[in-house]
Amino acid sequence: MSNLERVYRAEGVVLRRRDFGEADRLTTIYTKNLGKLRLVAKGVRKPRSRKSGHLEPFTRVKLLIARGRNLDIITQAESIETYPNILSDLITLGHASYIVELLDRFSVEEREDNQELYNLLLSSLDRLSSAEEKPWAVTLFFELRLLEFAGYRPEFFECVHCAEKIEALDQYFSFQLGGVVCPRGRQSQIDSVSLSLLALKVLRFYQRNRYETAAQPRIESKIADEVGRLMESYLSHILEGRLNSPVFLRRVQRLEKWRV
Ligand SMILES: [Zn+2]
Repeated sequence: MSNLERVYRAEGVVLRRRDFGEADRLTTIYTKNLGKLRLVAKGVRKPRSRKSGHLEPFTRVKLLIARGRNLDIITQAESIETYPNILSDLITLGHASYIVELLDRFSVEEREDNQELYNLLLSSLDRLSSAEEKPWAVTLFFELRLLEFAGYRPEFFECVHCAEKIEALDQYFSFQLGGVVCPRGRQSQIDSVSLSLLALKVLRFYQRNRYETAAQPRIESKIADEVGRLMESYLSHILEGRLNSPVFLRRVQRLEKWRV
């Protein structure tokens, strides 16, 4: 086997890591060109490891990887960006944890180019580390784009039950059908939750616009909460189980309100 086949380079963001064996860690990294990879970071828990500081969650890192028998092995790691602002703030940390968990849960290990998702991850982390952006807006934009890439784009314009155009009234949302349901559809016992007209307008606006436009209008925190809860429930429904980070996220969102 030649050197070219035994080692390869990748750039990615650390999604999570867990202890593995005596001194190693199993590290999940979303890469620019190879999608999600699970790699072994050998000896990284030893006090003098040169790789350890570069392989913390949310770190954007350049890697040299060696092919292993089962799992490939990180032989070199060099951080490009560590997002210190994300780590130093509980609110942004909560949002960033949620974002990487979603990405982790929605992607399978694939070794396929998925640069759109990678770019979405990077821009979301950049925005979260900027004091000017509203974390909930960054998260909402991420959720909607992720759903779109994953083939679960929610329908906000037509009733998913009767295909009628949605009127300017309070509506419902069906997790099962993946979209808005009109009050008439609701009567025919479609499994759904209520969705206010204002929340629906926010969702449509975020779905149709680029981030810079979408995040402009000031949204009442009650409506932002409603939208956040709906998205989280829809995503949990798709993933068939509760996500771990929303509990933490909700806790920090209470802090967030103090700041607005
Ligand atoms: Zn309908």
